[in-house]
Amino acid sequence: MVLAQLGGSISRALQQMSNATIIDEKVLNECLNEITRALLQSDVQFKLVRDMQTNIKNIINLDDLAAGHNKRRIIQQAIFNELCKMLDPGKPSFTPKKGKTSVIMFVGLQGSGKTTTCTKYAYYHQKKGWKPALVCADTFRAGAFDQLKQNATKAKIPFYGSYTESDPVKIAVDGVDTFKKDNHDLIIVDTSGRHKQEASLFEEMRQVAEATNPDLVVFVMDSSIGQAAFDQAQAFKQSVSVGSVIVTKMDGHAKGGGALSAVAATKSPVIFIGTGEHMDEFEVFDVKPFVSRLLG
Ligand code: GDP
Repeated sequence: MVLAQLGGSISRALQQMSNATIIDEKVLNECLNEITRALLQSDVQFKLVRDMQTNIKNIINLDDLAAGHNKRRIIQQAIFNELCKMLDPGKPSFTPKKGKTSVIMFVGLQGSGKTTTCTKYAYYHQKKGWKPALVCADTFRAGAFDQLKQNATKAKIPFYGSYTESDPVKIAVDGVDTFKKDNHDLIIVDTSGRHKQEASLFEEMRQVAEATNPDLVVFVMDSSIGQAAFDQAQAFKQSVSVGSVIVTKMDGHAKGGGALSAVAATKSPVIFIGTGEHMDEFEVFDVKPFVSRLLG
């Protein structure tokens, strides 16, 4: 279920409930079940939806509803607050500071949009006066270095990589050192992905992280992976200390549920979303407007 449809389903469920003459537990349950179905279809993980339903029932006081207050508004507000809470892990992401060197390592499955997102992240900061640089430590995918080089050249961002060196740890360390000496304030390390969550991928990630000691590890996740989001995000979090999430491909048929699952699994906030293939199709993630859109 795409974002707009989800908003529509939730609004319909609320509308049906506010049309009822008496709001009792049965009517409220029916409404919440309807909303639960909509969230599940939008790929929010089952456990999260169940917890949310319990929380809402605990918050809502049926006597208040019966007293003729605006029932729809009370319940909508409770759902809004719960969804916001689900997207807020309670601690902010590491934020790099302009003029002070930060190393940011990007991890994610192959095809998640990791390489594209590295350039978008660099370009976003460059436009704001930062001095970013890109390191391609992906030696697994043929053509990864060429892709990064092409993107970086287009955006006029310095890059580092190698056609001959096969050790990603060495490339990452050399690249980071080179750009540190050159006083870059944002050194972005693109790492290898795999099609699946394989042990070799996680081992390589761990080694690159250990050698470069990044200030922040960003987990890049494709929004179209559906219910797999929670387990995938959790697997990455267990291998490296993921500190924030970027959800890609939120354009087109994007579902919002994956974002909620990724936050729950990594206990890290979503910081940006990718909304297209182009360099500037990249938005700062803001919880409240996102949830408002979700609810229609
Ligand atoms: P990687 O293997 O994770 O490095 O993935 P890539 O960066 O090569 O991206 C895989 C594909 O997804 C490419 O065709 C990208 O153009 C595309 N892509 C990346 N981010 C987005 C996005 O936000 N929206 C859309 N529509 N496509 C994207």
